[in-house]
Amino acid sequence: MNSVESDFLVIGSGIAGLSLAIKLSELGTVAILSKRDFLAGSTTHAQGGIAAVTSPEDSFEKHIADTLRAGAGLCDEEVVRHVVEEGPQRIKELIEWGMAFTRDGHDEDHPYELGLEGGHSQRRVLHAGDFTGSAIAKTLLGKAQGLPNVQFFEYHAGIDLITTEKLAPTTPVTCLGAYVLDIRQQQVKTFIGRRATLLATGGAGKVYLYTSNPDVASGDGLAMAYRAGAILSNLEFVQFHPTCLYHPEAKSFLISEAVRGEGGILRLMDGTPFMERYHADKELAPRDVVARAIDAELKKRGDPYVYLDIRHKGADFVKKRFPTIYQQCLMYGIDITKDLIPVVPAAHYFCGGVQTDAWGRSSVQKLWAIGEVACTGLHGANRLASNSLLEGLVFAHRAYQKLSQQAVPAGLSYDVPPWNPGNARNSDEQVVITQNWDEIRHVMWNYVGIARSDKRLERAYHRIRLLQQEIQEYYWDFIITSDLIELRNLATVAELVVRCAMMRKESRGLHYTLDHPDKDDLHFKHDTLVERPSMAASTPTLNFL
Ligand SMILES: Cc1cc2nc3c(=O)[nH]c(=O)nc-3n(C[C@H](O)[C@H](O)[C@H](O)COP(=O)(O)OP(=O)(O)OC[C@H]3O[C@@H](n4cnc5c(N)ncnc54)[C@H](O)[C@@H]3O)c2cc1C
Repeated sequence: MNSVESDFLVIGSGIAGLSLAIKLSELGTVAILSKRDFLAGSTTHAQGGIAAVTSPEDSFEKHIADTLRAGAGLCDEEVVRHVVEEGPQRIKELIEWGMAFTRDGHDEDHPYELGLEGGHSQRRVLHAGDFTGSAIAKTLLGKAQGLPNVQFFEYHAGIDLITTEKLAPTTPVTCLGAYVLDIRQQQVKTFIGRRATLLATGGAGKVYLYTSNPDVASGDGLAMAYRAGAILSNLEFVQFHPTCLYHPEAKSFLISEAVRGEGGILRLMDGTPFMERYHADKELAPRDVVARAIDAELKKRGDPYVYLDIRHKGADFVKKRFPTIYQQCLMYGIDITKDLIPVVPAAHYFCGGVQTDAWGRSSVQKLWAIGEVACTGLHGANRLASNSLLEGLVFAHRAYQKLSQQAVPAGLSYDVPPWNPGNARNSDEQVVITQNWDEIRHVMWNYVGIARSDKRLERAYHRIRLLQQEIQEYYWDFIITSDLIELRNLATVAELVVRCAMMRKESRGLHYTLDHPDKDDLHFKHDTLVERPSMAASTPTLNFL
């Protein structure tokens, strides 16, 4: 089966992709892809929970105000309102599909235990213990797998989107589907989405040396959309989670924000608390403030990590509220009911992405972006904790609503050519991939991390352009593999983050630069847009929109 045609092609199987598949199956046939197993995305790793207004003490206005405050002047207020006001309905639907949020048993009308996280003025985070994302992903996968209209393709990695640009250059560019590598068969297939192709490929944390993200987060959707000619925005706003476990054997294990929400205290290596020197809300200051404070203390002292302390809450509470964190840390020899937890900041969430309208449509016809891959206007310059799972759910529903109003096209009027491997041969130089991969991640960490400067960004830009040239030559010479796909995409995303960061000569939200430490509303209170240089341009340039 080298060609698969369906009404909707959904690339990615996290909260966004799975809820899209469930919804869109009411409108037609759906093919859903994941480049690893179906639970490999960030969704499965989300611990804290999902923010929504469900308590009588809370209100839409409060949730909206908190989201706007975090977004530092760049949120689209209309989008924020949609997401917040439609949130409770989507949560209700999720519960009807079988999701079991943790209950507190006090009030029959409001039975769910609500967590408090940084930047929220109210307890409003629904959670299932500290394994919320995993419970949501399994609920959605179970629901989707029971639907006759949905076809599942695991270990299928999208390589490039197929557009009309080369087939019919005069029409507005339209997405027809994607070339996809069947990783197990080592074969490239053509997937057609007759009515729409929906990117739900998640974020790109792997572009940084230290990240909380799983391996699949290599920014493939961002890079594919960019190559297809879509506009991307705000990629300079990368959220660094303040507290990832620091341990030589722990690969990207996050210590949830909820630990600070429940009273966790950050301490220097000598035991001194330090957050009161940085913000009145101390440990509950917005994430960017906490991450910058830790980064500043580490740089000042040359310490490898700081500590997070939750011992004072007592063993019973800690084990019940944070069972996963407790067990996971115990595996590394840290009993969090008795020991301090060593933590460092790590790249966590991409606020920017493929720019969409309030329904998830990108600037390329029939190409949609939902979930972390998208930049919808909800987060602005900084994401409020636990708003991203909510965004995935709400936007999947909004895309479904809009698509259900569109006329069904008669059929595809283009002859899509199969993938052309050219003269590519098998590579015997895997080291080129690992070397380039490491270099990109180091450059991004050292020069484009929590604190940036004009000089660091220029250095990063030049290094990454050089790496890109090397990768580009390698890419077309050798038979495509999933590592090569990811490396090419990481390099593209790295370049785009740097370009966006270079354009924003101010500090706002998650973008902090030593050379322009203040916010400059007069010149920069707008989104940063990037678009692929015209196909006709022969030399790559700093082509800022
Ligand atoms: C450790 C951790 C904790 C978090 N905690 C919270 C939290 O408590 N609350 C909250 O709101 N948010 C949290 N977040 C953020 C949130 O989990 C993510 O933003 C959200 O889950 C993203 O969902 P998604 O559906 O967009 O993508 P993902 O869940 O990341 O799924 C991406 C999917 O795309 C697939 N894919 C990627 N590239 C390709 C390709 N080329 N071809 C085919 N498939 C591809 C992957 O295999 C995967 O199936 C957390 C994130 C992390 C990493």
